[in-house]
Amino acid sequence: MTKASVLKYGLKCRCPECGKGRLFNGFLTLAPRCEVCGLDYSFADPADGPAFFIMIIMGIPAAGFGVWVEIMWEPSVWVHLLTSGPFMLLTCIPPIRFAKGMLVASQYVNKAEEVRFDTSAQAKDAPVTAMR
Ligand SMILES: [Zn+2]
Repeated sequence: MTKASVLKYGLKCRCPECGKGRLFNGFLTLAPRCEVCGLDYSFADPADGPAFFIMIIMGIPAAGFGVWVEIMWEPSVWVHLLTSGPFMLLTCIPPIRFAKGMLVASQYVNKAEEVRFDTSAQAKDAPVTAMR
């Protein structure tokens, strides 16, 4: 898998290994494993990364639309509830799925995972060396 595949398979929400299996069960819930190649998705934990990126990127046009409507027509609050509210939801919620797919694919390609300390007996018996 190459870096271009991160974009390709991430946007398609497909398995980062084979590119065929579905990444999600539902809208944002990761499947336990790929139904085609069997890749275990337990390595994937983008946490709140997708929501953060979408909030930062799409919040600008969403807020801009509301400000534009207010400046142009100075409507009452219920007009904003019917126009700016749905626009904000449409620009922020659907892209989260694609952002999460891309972050999971990126984690797979870059082998990103949480730090784990070696607690085996061999590691405990190893001499401690000071770094200078
Ligand atoms: Zn797969």
